[in-house]
Amino acid sequence: MEKYNYVILGAGITGLSAAYHLKNLDYAIFESENRIGGMCKTESINGFLFDYAEHFIRVDDLYVKKIIKKLLKSNVQSQNLNSAIYISGNYTGYPFQTNLFGLPPEIIKECLVGYIKAVYETDKKEIPKNFEEWIYKNFGDGIAKHFMLPYNEKIWNVHPREMNINWFFSDKVVPKGSIEQLIEGAIKKTEEDKQIRWYTVKGGIESLAKSFIPHIKNLYLNEKVVKIIPSKKRVIFGDGKSVEYNYLISTIPLKEFIKIIGDSAPNSVKKASEKLKYNSLLCVNFGVNRDKISDKHWIYFPDKDIVFSRVYFPMNFSSSMVPKGKSSVGAIITYSDKKPINKKNIVKIVQKDLIKTSILKEDDEILIENIVNIKYGFSIPDLNLPKNIDVIQKYLLKNDVHSIGRYGNWEYAGIEHSILDGKNIAEKLK
Ligand SMILES: Cc1cc2nc3c(=O)[nH]c(=O)nc-3n(C[C@H](O)[C@H](O)[C@H](O)COP(=O)(O)OP(=O)(O)OC[C@H]3O[C@@H](n4cnc5c(N)ncnc54)[C@H](O)[C@@H]3O)c2cc1C
Repeated sequence: MEKYNYVILGAGITGLSAAYHLKNLDYAIFESENRIGGMCKTESINGFLFDYAEHFIRVDDLYVKKIIKKLLKSNVQSQNLNSAIYISGNYTGYPFQTNLFGLPPEIIKECLVGYIKAVYETDKKEIPKNFEEWIYKNFGDGIAKHFMLPYNEKIWNVHPREMNINWFFSDKVVPKGSIEQLIEGAIKKTEEDKQIRWYTVKGGIESLAKSFIPHIKNLYLNEKVVKIIPSKKRVIFGDGKSVEYNYLISTIPLKEFIKIIGDSAPNSVKKASEKLKYNSLLCVNFGVNRDKISDKHWIYFPDKDIVFSRVYFPMNFSSSMVPKGKSSVGAIITYSDKKPINKKNIVKIVQKDLIKTSILKEDDEILIENIVNIKYGFSIPDLNLPKNIDVIQKYLLKNDVHSIGRYGNWEYAGIEHSILDGKNIAEKLK
């Protein structure tokens, strides 16, 4: 039986980054699918390219900037994020609280009064017990009622009062804004939120995953892990092959991973894993026979009567994502066991709502319809998540298993995190 000092499970960005940073050490990386990338994959259909959902790279970290430039060379470009919110029939800028201009006056008043009360009347020393309290404390009643609560409840499929506040990894995930910005944004149309994002010039987000290939070795595709025996430090694959390790680095969704360990895991760990909650998502994509249907990268939809939570426009991430003179749009719908969706007719329902929100026209010719279904889309940061993760990770660490990445550590994280997670684990275990 083959043995490696380090065995990496999963060739998404986290696993690829771990392999990259282990350099010439003795490792192998195993991926269940026939191609690498994980969530960072791109479907190509008749000249239209669709990432799995939208993937704009946030690059706050200098090291991440350096490595992406090294990997992608000239295949990377930077842009100002251009996003918007559709609310009760109106479009406004993002973030909501600093772009109230244009909304009905009574909504603006409610938001401003609520915000001022939140700033001056709430006890700042009192730590919010959940995400709902955090929203009220930071934004007040109006902003909570008109955007923060409905949008978050819609995309997470749980009420913010059931969510913890540890999940946003940086202030920029839920931007706040000062009282001056809020008032200015209420009396006039302000500059759009100018956050910088990076994206590939060609090939969609999958090009980023592929750019690791020249720098890594011992990559095995079509190798689905079906069993792990921690006491023997052994991984068994669907085709019967097995390998042994000294250190195991897993990026497989944690809930799935504990199922794979099966009865070898203590009951407390199995119970904690059963309590991990998640949302699945459908990405419904269209290729449209019309130029420039929008200038946005993405738009948020808090209203309940619109089926999707967010739409994105791949053609604005890079012009190479569509044939010349055409447009593309995708819609994200989250669902879970508690909030199932009826997938029958979903393409028609999404198309109808894209027309209702003036993104598509009745007579637009649809050239491509494509659906991507993602089982583990968002891990839900419920109130017990930190406790459950702690129980599971302590057990895994005792067995030299390092479960990392957005799904491996069951967290809200992006590509930047994945690259750093891979780097950090390699440096820790070297
Ligand atoms: C809707 C949505 C939008 C997003 N937008 C952005 C964005 O704009 N910017 C950004 O930076 N990030 C974004 N992200 C997050 C980003 O996609 C992830 O952070 C990142 O891709 C996670 O990489 P990973 O390697 O940790 O996990 P994954 O990409 O899931 O990789 C895990 C790998 O493990 C493999 N695997 C699973 N089970 C097995 C098994 N049994 N045996 C072997 N292999 C297995 C999988 O096939 C997969 O390749 C978004 C995510 C979602 C869901």
